[in-house]
Amino acid sequence: MTPLIAATATSTDATPALLAIGLLIAAGYVVACWIWPFRACTRCHGTGKFRSPSGRTWRYCNRCSGKGAQLRHGRRLWNALNKH
Ligand SMILES: [Zn+2]
Repeated sequence: MTPLIAATATSTDATPALLAIGLLIAAGYVVACWIWPFRACTRCHGTGKFRSPSGRTWRYCNRCSGKGAQLRHGRRLWNALNKH
């Protein structure tokens, strides 16, 4: 009985609820980008370097210049907006 009531409730006024959920997720994403501005580099998976097959030598990642971190898209947008 409960899923049926929930289904009818969402079908009548789904748009405001979906908007609120979307805004909540967006706000959460902005806060997360503020607290944790970096994500692991996609090229080196956050290690910052590539090991040779022998495992004894390595080179630094070119994408993140050895830091293993990349700015997240939200934070990059935030920096671009706050530059002026
Ligand atoms: Zn990297």
